[in-house]
Amino acid sequence: MAAFAAAAMLFGSPDPATRFVPRTVRAGETAVLVFTRTTGFRHESIPDAIAAVRRLGTENGFSVDATEDPSAFTDVHLAPYRAVLFLLTTGDVLGDDEQAAFERWIRSGGGWVGVHSATDTEYEWPFYGELAGAYFAGHPEIQPAAVHVEDRAHPATSAVPENWPRTDEWYNFRANPRERVHVLATVDETTYSGGSMGADHPIAWCQEFAGGRAFYTAGGHTRESWAEPLFLAHVAGGIRWAAGIESGFCGEIQRSVPRRVAPRSAPRLVTPRN
Ligand SMILES: [Zn+2]
Repeated sequence: MAAFAAAAMLFGSPDPATRFVPRTVRAGETAVLVFTRTTGFRHESIPDAIAAVRRLGTENGFSVDATEDPSAFTDVHLAPYRAVLFLLTTGDVLGDDEQAAFERWIRSGGGWVGVHSATDTEYEWPFYGELAGAYFAGHPEIQPAAVHVEDRAHPATSAVPENWPRTDEWYNFRANPRERVHVLATVDETTYSGGSMGADHPIAWCQEFAGGRAFYTAGGHTRESWAEPLFLAHVAGGIRWAAGIESGFCGEIQRSVPRRVAPRSAPRLVTPRN
């Protein structure tokens, strides 16, 4: 047993509790895959976040499968899912074949939801960087700040106030993503210390990207975030939009991204996507 455990650690096998087990998705079911693998910093809020997303699924009409297992990222395994959440992921979480399968899945209409350190993930994967919109640069201490909602029509921000005070770990990004994404909310750097983006500091955004959809929110560091009704409404709206349950405007341009992945016939779907 000890030898097995040592071998499992050596080869990085996922914990059995988070191993991906394919299941049959029912016709008409909106299934969402939650991916929480970390190879860098690991947030202690991950269990709270998974439990909260499961509750949001019950309340918002989607089913949730959670895994830390990159073997979920194949054409066949991804096909039944309408959205994939990179929930507090960090570091290099997917191998080349898994990345290629995820790219094909996005191009076939998949929806990505990135939460917090999803931008502290996969720095060397250009497709992912464009999908996410920005990469993490650093953060000050956890503290209260004022979030300003710019778009109160989108499902992710329709339930939160225009001026939204909350406490979180406020990320700075390597570059302002505004020219490439549809910004939903900014954080006001005059209301906290340690912001480095200046007067325009996007903190939540969305985009139609390469045939799929992407929603990102930088919040969610703390365990308390996942018991905050307005933050949960924000995440739920982002998931509903990414999964195609609810429509929302995320910019005019349907970006065409140079193909890095060899075209392949469409994966066989376990159930229809729509
Ligand atoms: Zn954090």
